[in-house]
Amino acid sequence: MLAMKFGGTSVGGANRIAEVVKIIQAEKERTPKIIAVVSAMSGVTNNLLAAANLAAQGKQAEYEKICQDLLRKHRIAILELIKDAIRCEELLKEIELMIEQNCSRLCYGIQILGEASPRALDAIGSLGERLSARLVAAALNEAGTKASFVEATELIVTDDNFGDAAPQMSETEARTQAKLLPMLENGVVPIITGFIGATRSGVTTTLGRGGSDYSVGIIGACLKVDEVWIWTDVDGVMSADPSIVPDAHTLAEMTYSEAAELSYYGAKVLYPKTILPVIKDEIPLLIKNSFFPERVGTRIAAKTSTTDSDVKAISSIKNISLITISGRGMMGVPGIAAKTFTAVASQNVNILMISQSSSENNICFVINTSEVERTCMVLRRALEVEFHHKHVEDIQVQNDIAIIAVVGERMKGTPGIAARIFGAVGQSGANVIAIAQGSSEINISFVIGQNDIPKVVKAVHDEFKLGQSNRLK
Ligand code: ASP
Ligand code: MG
Repeated sequence: MLAMKFGGTSVGGANRIAEVVKIIQAEKERTPKIIAVVSAMSGVTNNLLAAANLAAQGKQAEYEKICQDLLRKHRIAILELIKDAIRCEELLKEIELMIEQNCSRLCYGIQILGEASPRALDAIGSLGERLSARLVAAALNEAGTKASFVEATELIVTDDNFGDAAPQMSETEARTQAKLLPMLENGVVPIITGFIGATRSGVTTTLGRGGSDYSVGIIGACLKVDEVWIWTDVDGVMSADPSIVPDAHTLAEMTYSEAAELSYYGAKVLYPKTILPVIKDEIPLLIKNSFFPERVGTRIAAKTSTTDSDVKAISSIKNISLITISGRGMMGVPGIAAKTFTAVASQNVNILMISQSSSENNICFVINTSEVERTCMVLRRALEVEFHHKHVEDIQVQNDIAIIAVVGERMKGTPGIAARIFGAVGQSGANVIAIAQGSSEINISFVIGQNDIPKVVKAVHDEFKLGQSNRLK
C-alpha cells in the first residue's frame, strides 16, 4: 500500500493535474492500493486567507474579487479536464456553490463581525483543498481510474487549536481505517484533502501552513502503508540551498533525524512534523519531483547505507535575533535560566538555539525577529528582582543574524568535524557569534551575521566536498 501527497504546484493547473493522473495510474499498476492526499492549487490558500483578512477590514470589493478569481481558476481547470458534459456541469455547479458558501458568504460574515477569528480562518482556509481534491478525483474518473474524494474532516480528529491543530492519533486511526480500507478493497483511489482535520464535534481545523505533508504522514501511519511519497516541485532535499550554492546536490537518502533537523533549520522541502507519525513503524518517506517523475528523489528512513557521508547538508535561517542576558552576578545564582525560558514560553515564542558559556556570565538564545519586542518585555518583568540585585545587568538584542546548521547523522562520534567546520568558516573571513551543538551530535549550529550566509554556506559545503561536481569524480 502506498500513500502519496501532491503539493500545490503539482496540482497547480489542468496540465499539472493531468500529470498527477498519469503518475497515480502508473504507480497503481505496481501497487494496486494507493491513496493520494492533495494540497490546494498553488496560491489558493494564500488568497483565501487574504480574502478573510480583507473582509475583516471591510474591503468588500477586494475580497469579492478574490472569490471570483478563485472560481475562475477552478472553472478553467475543470473545463479542460472533464470532457464528459454532464459530469463537467455537475462539478462546476458543486464548486460554484462551495465557493459561494465558504468564501463569499463566510467573508461577508467576517465583514459584519469586523474580525477574522482563528476558527473562521480555518473554515475559509480549508476550502482550497476541498476544491482541489474534487478536481483530482474527477480527473482520475474521467481517465478511467476509479477515485473518490474524501474530506479529511471525516478522518483526522484534532484538538481545537485552530490554525495549528494537533491530531488525536487513536481516534484518527480508527476512522481512517474504517473509511479508507473498504474503498481500497474495491479498487478505488481515495483522494483526500490535505491540511485539514476536524475537532471531535466536527468543526473544521487546519494543521498549520504547509501541513498537507503532515496529513499524508498521519494517514499513511494510520494505514501502515509501505511507503509515503511526497510529490513536490524540486528533486528532493538538497545539500544546501541551490540559490546560494549552485553546485549543491540532491541527497539520495537521509535518516528521519537528519530530515527533522534540516526542516527545523529552514530547509523548505518538508513540513517539520511530517515525519513524527511515520517514525514509529519506520515507514520510509520519499520526496519526488512531479515535474520529473523519473528522477529518484530523496529517501528518508530509519537508516541509510554505510557509504553515506558524515556531513550531509547545510541550511540557514534568517530574520532571527540573538538575545543575550548578561550580568557578572549571574554566576552561581540558580534559577535565572528557568525564569528566562519560562517567560519566553509563556509568550508561545519558539527558541531556535540556546547557548551559555561555562563562566555563566551570560545566557543567549535565538528567536524570530518578529517576536523580539514582546519577548524582551516579559523578560524585563520576569527578571525584575534579578535586575534589582544586579545579578542581571543587561538584556541585549542583536538583529540581522543567521543560524547556520550543519547536519549529518554520521557526524556523531566522528572527531574533527567541528574543527573542519570552524576552520572553513574562519577562512571565509566570517565571524562566529555563538555556537551550539545538541548532544545528539547530529547538528552543529552557529550564529553569524546575516550578510555572511553565502560565503559561510559555500565554505562549509566545499570543505566537506558536497558539490555535485565533487561527487561525480
Ligand atoms: N494549502 C496549504 C498551505 O498552503 C497546505 C499545504 O499546501 O500543504 O499552507
Ligand atoms: Mg503548499
